[in-house]
Amino acid sequence: MPKYRYEELTWPEVREAVAQNRVAVLPVGTTEQHGPHLPLVTDVLTASEMSRLAVERIPDEAVLMPPVYYSFNEHHMDFPGTIAVPGETVVRYVTAVGTSLARHGFRKILIVNGHGSNVPFLDIAARNITNETPAIAAMASWWSLIPTDLLTRLRESEYPGGMAHGCELETSVLLHLRPDLVQMDKAQKDINFQPTEFFYWDLQRPSPIFFQEWFSRYSKTGTVGDPTKATAAKGEAFVNAVVERLAALIQEFRLREIRPRADHH
Ligand SMILES: [Zn+2]
Repeated sequence: MPKYRYEELTWPEVREAVAQNRVAVLPVGTTEQHGPHLPLVTDVLTASEMSRLAVERIPDEAVLMPPVYYSFNEHHMDFPGTIAVPGETVVRYVTAVGTSLARHGFRKILIVNGHGSNVPFLDIAARNITNETPAIAAMASWWSLIPTDLLTRLRESEYPGGMAHGCELETSVLLHLRPDLVQMDKAQKDINFQPTEFFYWDLQRPSPIFFQEWFSRYSKTGTVGDPTKATAAKGEAFVNAVVERLAALIQEFRLREIRPRADHH
């Protein structure tokens, strides 16, 4: 298998990876509490492991970047363990990583996100990279790559709320990827956020409004969802589906034509 881990390449090998038009895949997670049963590293682990498995399928078409471990999650600070970085810093930091890649000649940068609250900041970072360099950058959250029919078929928890944070979905994925880090005896259902027509949380189909309040206002355990419904078999099905679509996305993105701009002034 060709080398695909960015940090293990030498500089001539980076030049070669650029010549091969490889896609730079950057996993971004966060370090934050995930309830009493999941580790702080959950969002880093999901994004980086799914990215690794996808890149390993097509190792001469992509390079896997070291993951970003810290990001925006101030709203989780009432629980021990969370490391909060201002959103503006996340935008600048990820933009700088992508800009560096573009300066070395990479033209396709794909950010793989593992943390819901990263979405607005990584969207802006990807746009910055595209606007400020000759490269194009895109961002995908791993859960949005799960086919809807698979998700609805396997899902046992209620909607909305069962799949939000440290939930049926994330716990299943961790049970598959790192069962040694899951303490299922401590997993508790916690859906106490007073769901209304407009105010609710769920990864399968998010609420139509953007809103995030202090996590401790609506969760006693640090979980939002029903992790008691999680199984390793569901996790394996979710991971396999995401990895397959992520590999296809990387291949499509690699071949995407970057057309010249036209200045119509
Ligand atoms: Zn998470």
